[in-house]
Formats: sequence, C-alpha cells, structure tokens
Amino acid sequence: MSEAEKKIFDTDEKDYLPVFNRYKIVLDHGEGVYVWDVAGRKYLDFLGGIAVNVLGHHYPPLVEAIASQAAKIIHASNLYYTKPQADAAAKLTALSGLGKVFFCNSGAEANEGAIKIARKYACQIHPGKSQILTAWDSFHGRTLATLTATGQPKYHEGLGPLPAGFDYIRYNDIADLEAKISDKTAAVMLETIQGEGGVYPPEDNYLKNVRALCDQHGALLILDEIQAGIGRAGTFFAYEKYGVKPDIVTLAKGLAGGVPIGAFAVTNEVAAAFHAGDHGTTFGGNPLACAAANIVLDTIPKKEFLARVEVLGAYFKQKLMELQKKYPAFIVDVRGTGLILGAELASDAHGRDIVNVCLEKGIIINCTVGKVLRFLPPLIITEPQIDEVVSVLDDVISHDA
Ligand SMILES: *Cc1c(COP(=O)(O)O)cnc(C)c1O
Repeated sequence: MSEAEKKIFDTDEKDYLPVFNRYKIVLDHGEGVYVWDVAGRKYLDFLGGIAVNVLGHHYPPLVEAIASQAAKIIHASNLYYTKPQADAAAKLTALSGLGKVFFCNSGAEANEGAIKIARKYACQIHPGKSQILTAWDSFHGRTLATLTATGQPKYHEGLGPLPAGFDYIRYNDIADLEAKISDKTAAVMLETIQGEGGVYPPEDNYLKNVRALCDQHGALLILDEIQAGIGRAGTFFAYEKYGVKPDIVTLAKGLAGGVPIGAFAVTNEVAAAFHAGDHGTTFGGNPLACAAANIVLDTIPKKEFLARVEVLGAYFKQKLMELQKKYPAFIVDVRGTGLILGAELASDAHGRDIVNVCLEKGIIINCTVGKVLRFLPPLIITEPQIDEVVSVLDDVISHDA
C-alpha cells in the first residue's frame, strides 16, 4: 500500500460514516470495462458500479453529452421546462407504453414515489385500500418506506416505528400471494428479477399470475427494474421477457450511465391520481442527468444492442454452468438471465474471500447475501473478458474447493 493510498484509507475511516464494508482499493479512472486505482493497478470491472455503468467507463458520447450540457446549464429547477427532460420522458413513455414519467435522483426515491402514487390512486377506490405487498428477500431502497418495503428484517432492526401498511409474500409462490392479496391491497411491488436478495428470476408464468391476481383485486402492479432494467435482461425492460406489463415501473442505476437519476413511469390512469403539488423534487430530472439519460436511451434499446446482451448473457451463463459442473460441491446453482447472473456457493464461508482474491487478481465481482457471486457487468463486455473472469474464478475456486 502506497503512502497516498494509506492517507485516503485513514482519512476516510476517520471522517466517513462507516456504513460500507469497503474493499481496500482507491479507484481513480476507467476506460471501457476497465478501471484503474490510484496506484495504477488495472481491474476488469464485472460489477459496473452495481449495475450502473451500463455503457462502461469513459464512454465518449456520454462524456461529451455531460460536458456540453454542463457548459449550457446544469440545473434549471422543475419550475421550468428543459429539453433534455422532455426528451428523456418521451423516450421512456415510448419504450414502456406507459403514460407519464417522473424523474428523481435514486432508486429509493423512485420506489418511494411509486408507493405514494399507488396509495393515492387506491384511496380513490376506497380509503382503506392502502396495503403494499412486497416479497421476502426483496430490495427496494433505504428510505423509511422503501426499507420497510424491503423484505429483509436485518434492514429493519432498530429503526421503528416503521411506516404501516406493508406486508410480505414469498417470491415465486403464487399461492402465498393469493392468500394475502385482498381488496385492501393498493399495490403489489416486486423486483422483476430479485437482485440483491441473490439473483432470483421469476419462474414460468409467475408474473403473469401475479398480474392476474392484481387485476382481480384492483391492486396495482409495481415492478422495480432499478437493477434488472435498462437492457440488462436482454430486453429494455426485464418484464418484456416475461410477458407482463406493470401499472408502474421504477428505474434508476443504469438509466443515466452513472449520473445519479431515478424514474418511475405510470399509466395515464394512475398518473391522474397526482395533481400539481402532490409530489416534487429539487434536483430530480435536471438537464445534466437527463442529457446523460438520453444517451443511454438512444443506445441501449436498439435491437442489435439488446440482442448482443442476450448473446453475452447466454455465453457467460453457459461458462458459469460449466464451472458448476467442475465444482458441484462448491457452486450449487447458477441463475439469472442476460447480464444479471448469480452463482450460488454451497456456504457463505468463502463468498467475501473469493471476491477479495479476484480483486487481487485484477477482477471486480460482487457477492450478495454472503454466498451468491453476483455479476452485473457493463453491457459492453466481450467474450474474451467473460473467459478471463471465468478462468480467474476457476483458479480461485480450485484452491478453495
Ligand atoms: C439499488 C436498488 C434500489 C435502491 O436504489 P438506490 O439508488 O440505492 O436508492 C432499489 N431497488 C433495487 C431493485 C435496487 O437494486
């Protein structure tokens, strides 16, 4: 460790709230699928800032759009119109077939807004219709409402009283939803593919059956595509793959290729529940973030781009499954679709170790829930880069297995 690195670690440990279990590298710059630390070490980035850097690092059109927008106007306030925001909204309504879009700054804010508008809509039907059903092992954010929506009790501890009206169902268990949904349910909110909870895609027809139960009980379907959306599943919205349409979809992470942004899109019918003054944001959808989003929205929805994600995902998944075959006692499952993939380890004894050893070997990956190696690379990776990651994993596991 250099003096410069030591100084950054020491300062950060002294002055930054220690809520992150950080890995000991100081990132400095990136190019494509690679990032470099301050000491000049190069890393192949198969996490992409947790599904954020969808176009990789230092993507010239994105850099140019941000720079030229910054030179014009960074922030204008939502009291006025801007062209980048109107353009980004039009692209998202066209892509989703939904009626209206709202921009905010993060995933949690997008879900918070989705919950608010769902409740506002449902209370027009009857005032007691306020229940929000979400799944165990879900992840929806860190604000009080979204962490309550997050079906992981470890995130709730010590933070009560939590907002009322949230209940939980088992994901991929339609009978459990059937038992809990009622005319008191305002919305069912699910990740189309569970990410943080361990990379769990929906089973055949699950989401279609959820949609049908929602319709039967007059409940809205909110799909959280903050992680799985923006082309990651091989379709622009992951839900397109499963033949369902939500009433509300939430986005963030990759939407502006790294500039903070969030969004929710709703049907015109739901949108009518909000009037001027019912919701708002100072920064959300500012021209800088929307200029960046416009590059993402012009690039990723293209047929060839999405087809390439599908090909890369199938190739990567195949390689991971071969690794599982080689180490069946070590890797017990490989899940996911497109470039949201997970390899579940037999125990959580090795997860963080593997991530650390990979890092020493110049590969950035992630481990979630202690034992699921999670891959959320930029969508512009290549087959040789996949081979490199799999070969390093093979090497690392051969020492542990
Ligand atoms: C990351 C994430 C969020 C929260 O997004 P933030 O920008 O961290 O607030 C919500 N839902 C899902 C599915 C996520 O992956």
